[in-house]
Amino acid sequence: MIESVELVLKSSQEKAVELLSKLVSFPVLGGESNILIAEWIESYLKEHGVEFTNVPNEEGNKRSIHCRIGPAVDGGIILSGHQDVVPVEGQTWTTDPFVLIDKNDGKLYARGSCDMKGFLACCLAALPEMLKADLKKPIYFAFSYDEEIGCLAAPELAEHIKSTYTEKPKYAIIGEPSMMQPVVGQKGIVVYKTHVNGSAGHSSRIRTEVSAINEAARLILWLENKMNQLVADGRTDERFIPPHTSIHCGIFEKSGIAPNIVSDKASFNWDCRVIPMDKSTEILAQFEAHCRELEKCNQSKFPDFKIVTELDHSDVPPLDTPEHLSIVPLIRELTGVDELTTVSYAAEAGQFSNAGFETVICGPGDIAQAHRADEFIEKDQLDQGVEFMFRLINKFS
Ligand SMILES: [Zn+2]
Repeated sequence: MIESVELVLKSSQEKAVELLSKLVSFPVLGGESNILIAEWIESYLKEHGVEFTNVPNEEGNKRSIHCRIGPAVDGGIILSGHQDVVPVEGQTWTTDPFVLIDKNDGKLYARGSCDMKGFLACCLAALPEMLKADLKKPIYFAFSYDEEIGCLAAPELAEHIKSTYTEKPKYAIIGEPSMMQPVVGQKGIVVYKTHVNGSAGHSSRIRTEVSAINEAARLILWLENKMNQLVADGRTDERFIPPHTSIHCGIFEKSGIAPNIVSDKASFNWDCRVIPMDKSTEILAQFEAHCRELEKCNQSKFPDFKIVTELDHSDVPPLDTPEHLSIVPLIRELTGVDELTTVSYAAEAGQFSNAGFETVICGPGDIAQAHRADEFIEKDQLDQGVEFMFRLINKFS
């Protein structure tokens, strides 16, 4: 008996809810071991007879997973998602964050329901259909860890995929919540921490000592001026809000011990969210050059005056997928949406793109629900995610 397509779709959509409720029950926070959820995903793949490959970290307490469904031929598509979620501490949840709750309001509540275990559930729910179909081009799953603390695992995962398979996958879809809209651009992000070492002394001696607080304040203003200068130089990209690279100091560490003592220590953290045309490394190089100048000026007063900048959050590259690439008509066809959008949040998309895959972000759920208390995904979005997988299977068969 041939089941009707609608019935198969409906049962896969129900399966996605069931799988999502399992996936959210693993409270794997970014930075923590993901072994339990990885093992569960692997056992699901095994049950379906799918061979997979692990990409473990050095300590062996975390691993990415990738696998191929379909023939070993060029031109396949990678479906990529992360297994970790952000913490719930300090948030006021009205339900258990690690239990999928259906309140019968069309929404499914749990940490990670939206970002982004919903997408993983859609991939896994459609797996039996992918296996049944006579795929002409392969579909790959690529599930990373530690995305939420700086997209740490994706570069190695993407490289591992390239070296594992003899054929060349062509496309990558990063299933971050985008309400199933095609996203072709993403800002990059990097966070630095800068430490200023000045001299301590009586505050009346301000002309003799070097205040770390004053010098740090000047550096923060230099960064703001740098941002404004980029705009004045015409380095803007109207697809983003704001339409330029933003540079911002978010933490100024408590410095100084008394109003009448010149402070010898000051530290601050600053982030730099680059539009695709700018490079965070160039901005850092200019900042460092300015710091060396400042050191020279102040070392005549205080020889140990020093400014040290360290990486506080890995450098996540931006995404800029041009419209002429063939992934653009493909994603338009699969989503039925013509309009291409951009996002300002960080994701693994730029990393997959840099690895040589034509990449877009497209996944179920709204980013507005991500990282919040009572995170949810609309059931309709999850349904659309599964439908998307079915259209992909059709397209590739
Ligand atoms: Zn995410």
